Amino acid sequence: MATKPAKQKQNVYEVAQAQLNRAAETVHLEDRLHMILSQPKNELIINFPVRMDDGSYRLFKGYRIQHNDIMGPYKGGIRFHPEVHLDEVKALAAWMTWKCAVMEIPFGGAKGGVKFDPRAHTQAELERVTRRFTHALGDNIGPNYDIPAPDMGTNAQTMVWMMDTYMNRGPSRDKNAQRAVVTGKSLPSGGSQGREKATGQGLVYVVQEWAREFDFSLDGATFAVQGFGNVGSHAAAILSRMGASMVAAQDHTGAIYNAEGIHPRRLARYVAETGGVAGYRGAEAVDRASFFATEVDIFIPAALEMQITAETAPLMRCKLVVEGANGPTDLEGEAILRDKGVHLLPDILANAGGVTVSYFEWLQNRRAESWTLDDVDQRLHEMIVRAYRTVRRLAKEHGVDNRTAAYVHGLNRIQEVYRERGIFP
Ligand code: NAD
Repeated sequence: MATKPAKQKQNVYEVAQAQLNRAAETVHLEDRLHMILSQPKNELIINFPVRMDDGSYRLFKGYRIQHNDIMGPYKGGIRFHPEVHLDEVKALAAWMTWKCAVMEIPFGGAKGGVKFDPRAHTQAELERVTRRFTHALGDNIGPNYDIPAPDMGTNAQTMVWMMDTYMNRGPSRDKNAQRAVVTGKSLPSGGSQGREKATGQGLVYVVQEWAREFDFSLDGATFAVQGFGNVGSHAAAILSRMGASMVAAQDHTGAIYNAEGIHPRRLARYVAETGGVAGYRGAEAVDRASFFATEVDIFIPAALEMQITAETAPLMRCKLVVEGANGPTDLEGEAILRDKGVHLLPDILANAGGVTVSYFEWLQNRRAESWTLDDVDQRLHEMIVRAYRTVRRLAKEHGVDNRTAAYVHGLNRIQEVYRERGIFP
């Protein structure tokens, strides 16, 4: 059963704007900076034709939104999904700016996407869509300018096609210097150890810090995951290894529940074979409302944005929401969670593991280095813990929620640079 979007769905870009406005007040953001940061610097929309396997042609709509590059090259994922639209990519690009600033990574924020359903296409068609889109992006991306990565519906293979297409545009002697044009590549093609699980790993590091702060034991805790793709499945597998139990999962095919726990590795194998969680034998099918109403310690949205809303938040019975997805909670949903006393760890902190290890991949490519998994995990852990503690300190200092505190951290850093550099001319 496909999941219907919530009736009360708020506009994702307006939600992102409201989050910025709230934090802008707390940091006394200068009006001119508030104005600049309210809109992306560049909005690119490309309609490009691709030949299908049957010889027909189809026109695809692709986006690349470059929100801000004051802190470094634009950075952000490429999404393949039928619901991709301009406001969504604009919001996602802005969130990348704040996320990189929160993590103290020398990147700005961007996001891209192509509006189509990758599940409805063959590998050969996916390759042609990816290569044609990359070719159309041309000089609008580059290892020192704008560095894409995987997001929903894209993966390491997509990134390798993008890299190869980009590399082949220029002279042979420059090819290898272009490897860092994308991150999230496969290991043989220049990827980093630990990148595939990085977002889930970072999310678990954040949860561990929260558990330490609030004296909560993860061993024996229960959790539910919405979206069992890259982020959701890795977060679930790592949390399970720490003794926590996944009792519910939902994706675009349906929702499942088992009070005794669902084995994340087995479920991941099942999803790889069948395309979704529906029909998994180790759990019973439940509807969307029951999934949200499942009593758990930790709820992990790791699918689309605007899922925790005035419709679903009242149903939720959890202690902590940790946002694996970008923008999964709308303004009403957030207020309802707050009233219920549910703790929330916001996306720009909780899912920052992905971009952090992307940064490590970019560094390794540029330095011709290859770090071990232990190295990667250790550095990621240090950076996540530092960001978590800073966010929590700011939340207490300003008396604000964690999301606003994360924005405050990011905006303070961005404002400082704008003040030093001024606004040209
Ligand atoms: P993915 O494509 O690997 O998985 C997406 C999952 O969401 C799938 O299980 C899919 O079935 C599910 N889904 C899609 N539509 C749904 C719907 N309408 N209802 C319920 N489930 C639905 O994607 P991913 O890379 O895991 O990304 C998931 C989220 O995490 C996105 O919000 C993305 O922006 C965010 N994120 C990803 C990364 C990364 O490194 N991949 C990093 C940071 C944030």
